[in-house]
Amino acid sequence: MEYKSTAELSSLAEEENTSISEIVLKVEMEESELSRSEIESRMAANLQVMRDAVERGINNKIESGGGLVGEEALKMQSFLNSNPLEKDNIYNTVISYALAVSEVNAGMGKIVAGPTAGASGIVPAVVLALAEKLELGDEQIIKSLYTAAGLGYVVSRKATLAGAAGGCQAECGVASAMAAGAAVELRGGTPEMVVNAFALALKNMLGLVCDPVAGLVEVPCVKRNAAAASHALSASTMALAGIKSVIPADEIIIAMTEIGDQLPSCLKETSKGGLAITPTALKLKEEIFGKK
Ligand code: SF4
Repeated sequence: MEYKSTAELSSLAEEENTSISEIVLKVEMEESELSRSEIESRMAANLQVMRDAVERGINNKIESGGGLVGEEALKMQSFLNSNPLEKDNIYNTVISYALAVSEVNAGMGKIVAGPTAGASGIVPAVVLALAEKLELGDEQIIKSLYTAAGLGYVVSRKATLAGAAGGCQAECGVASAMAAGAAVELRGGTPEMVVNAFALALKNMLGLVCDPVAGLVEVPCVKRNAAAASHALSASTMALAGIKSVIPADEIIIAMTEIGDQLPSCLKETSKGGLAITPTALKLKEEIFGKK
């Protein structure tokens, strides 16, 4: 069994009357020659890393390399703790968790690069916040991570996952799409809905440039993770409501590649365009690294 596209992934799941996560797991078992329990325990270890990063980020000031971020999740959590109505809103939890993991990454802490370190806050934020809200156990969260992984795998075969090659649409955009698909499975949606959520999330992140200030994965990356995570949740809700992407997911992946190819290099992680060359960004760069 194998899949090279989201359409194949969804068809396989429907033919076997199962979930996308189960197809991803079966293919992984075949390819890795590992047992189900070995793969599960590896994913459980990833889940623990995600949880630890969230806990660390929401409870501590993080020392990031350039000092441009580090207290965002702490501030968000403090705001939520003193506003019970805000705390009850799952979007706010998603934002808080995405900031937390992304800040841990900015501080060189341990994260799961899914699909990349720069976009590592998005999938954990969505699946952990949803699992808490819906009172779901680790078994279900782990399954949703297979779904996210399978969707990311398809993109890696058809396109790029690197900001340096495709812009931030390939990092935060793809992470948002992976998280949207995972969220649909966690919320009981069908394989077709999973793929539609992926498509709805990705197509609305197309064209997103990679323009990190001072070349550091801090600004805009940390807050961009929060935005992409809440966007993923919206896409999953639309898909669960039966809303479909007019453009199929696999065509959106191709469009993402073409857009990435058309983006000038100054907007692909070189820090020579976009936010990275604003007066404030240049001043910050000088403060961090001195004059060159
Ligand atoms: S802006 Fe660039 S470095 Fe930052 S998360 Fe996006 S792709 Fe990664």
